[in-house]
Amino acid sequence: MNTIFDVIIVGGGPAGLSAALILGRCRRNVLVCDAGHHRNAASRALHGYLTRDGIEPAELLRIGREQLRPYPTVHLRADEVTNTRCVENGFEITINDEVVSSRKLLLATGVVDRLPDIDGLKSLYGRSVFHCPYCDGWELRDQPIAIYGREDRGSGLALELTGWSRDLVVCTDGPATFSADDRDQLAELNIAVREERISRLEGSDGQLERIIFVNGDAIPRRGMFFNTGQDQRCDLAAKLGCEFTERGAVRTGEYEMTKVPGLFVAGDASRAVQLVIVAAAEGAEAAFAINKALIKEDLLMK
Ligand SMILES: Cc1cc2nc3c(=O)[nH]c(=O)nc-3n(C[C@H](O)[C@H](O)[C@H](O)COP(=O)(O)OP(=O)(O)OC[C@H]3O[C@@H](n4cnc5c(N)ncnc54)[C@H](O)[C@@H]3O)c2cc1C
Repeated sequence: MNTIFDVIIVGGGPAGLSAALILGRCRRNVLVCDAGHHRNAASRALHGYLTRDGIEPAELLRIGREQLRPYPTVHLRADEVTNTRCVENGFEITINDEVVSSRKLLLATGVVDRLPDIDGLKSLYGRSVFHCPYCDGWELRDQPIAIYGREDRGSGLALELTGWSRDLVVCTDGPATFSADDRDQLAELNIAVREERISRLEGSDGQLERIIFVNGDAIPRRGMFFNTGQDQRCDLAAKLGCEFTERGAVRTGEYEMTKVPGLFVAGDASRAVQLVIVAAAEGAEAAFAINKALIKEDLLMK
């Protein structure tokens, strides 16, 4: 491929595909590279996306890719980008030893969640064990729910979940390190704190049934939420010299611009509100700014 693309988009999740759609409609020559590990792959249903509430996450992406087909200047590749660097007037990316160039670069590479290391959790994750009440709290409304977390993030999540259920137990899997205020508030709300080590989660067909502690105790629960952090899915933003927030998100400004000229970062990789509809909106915003910048450059060159 000797073409210099107007834009390379790394990541074909909601943020990347949404940007590709806008840029295709702007008649931009776009390459989307996607390694295919979208964040919500373990989930059965995507909630909170207007007109698509409850759709399978993979189906949303399939429709997204299909709707790019009418735009002949948008090219999709199912490949991982392993490296990138800034060059004069643009960027170079590496895909399987092949180097491809573009004038602008959009990273829509997402994040990966740190799953608690608990026996039995993986088969329940995305079906009755979740991290985000906004995504999956409704399905567990008024149900017995556990919150996993030893630090303030765990107590904070428990307090947040009171909007969905009042049958809550915080499991810290070892000594809790909550602030005194949080402990008082949990007690006032009758939210029990279990500090015993967890042995395993039990359930069937993706449905959590009980939490078993190392001391043999068991508590019945229909769902569990955790808040144990996340990491960038790849290191391309770091390699390009982006700044990060204290929570590990790429720091972006207006229209998802970064401090690196011509580089944009959209979706979960860059923001605190991590919802598919927000990721798609950020991709669209970035595409808008990218196209404007390209038009400006093209007109100046004439
Ligand atoms: C279990 C679970 C349930 C969720 N449920 C909901 C819900 O109900 N509603 C909701 O709104 N949100 C939900 N979310 C959040 C949602 O998944 C994210 O907000 C959304 O996926 C963010 O989109 P994105 O495009 O930024 O990233 P992603 O969807 O993660 O897509 C990023 C893509 O970039 C690719 N990529 C990364 N690095 C490279 C590279 N170097 N080269 C090539 N490709 C690369 C990845 O493989 C991936 O395909 C859920 C998340 C989880 C974990």
